[in-house]
Amino acid sequence: MAKPLEEYNRKRDFTKSPEPAGQVKSSGGARFFCVQKHLASHLHYDFRLEHNGVLLSWAVPKGPSLDPKTKRLAMHVEDHPLDYGEFEGVIPEGYGAGIVMLWDRGTWTPETSDVDAALKKGDLKFTLDGFKLKGSWVLVRTGGRYAGARSGQEGRSWLLIKHRDEWSGELDIATFAPRSVKSDGDLEDILASDTPAVWLSNRPAKGGETGALLAELIERAAGRKAADTKRSAKAAPAARGSRKTAPAKKKR
Ligand code: MN
Repeated sequence: MAKPLEEYNRKRDFTKSPEPAGQVKSSGGARFFCVQKHLASHLHYDFRLEHNGVLLSWAVPKGPSLDPKTKRLAMHVEDHPLDYGEFEGVIPEGYGAGIVMLWDRGTWTPETSDVDAALKKGDLKFTLDGFKLKGSWVLVRTGGRYAGARSGQEGRSWLLIKHRDEWSGELDIATFAPRSVKSDGDLEDILASDTPAVWLSNRPAKGGETGALLAELIERAAGRKAADTKRSAKAAPAARGSRKTAPAKKKR
């Protein structure tokens, strides 16, 4: 068996990416889960469950659905380090280049005593207690027969399905609650707080719907940053005079 997080670490250059380097560790108490909205070459949602010191990870192109009738394709991808679960920001280049938003987080409880056996079988039932996602869910491996799976990725395709309970319903949660649970920002805010022009030479998504969305985000975030810079330059002399106590901590 491969070393834990080997694939995660191999794909990244940590001198160029703000993402955390991979280390196996445990959160100690309840099992952590998160969903990261990731605008890279395509917009998708990365669904992650803490298990054995890493985050088991699935990329869900359309995001989780609260409707039990709507089964969402979930591509099983490499394990991520536990520290990744709090990551939000801009990946300027390389693997996964784009914008990452922490869309939901909380704890999860397996509805089985043997998670490894459930994963091996391809049928993992669990309960989520997040801000947006709650109640009972299942991840089921499809055996690669699912039409949405790209060739060469057979066996990696699973379905994420909500079980019927008090937390299921027809509400489109991705549209209803699109913002970050960490910063309350949207993708544009996350980009604007970083460097909006970061990919002008080499954008993660160039064409299609995602490319157009990214181009718009970059333009708006750059516009906002320019306006902010102008405003703070103007306001600076007055602010300096009137401020009696310096703010303890402005920005982390
Ligand atoms: Mn991703």
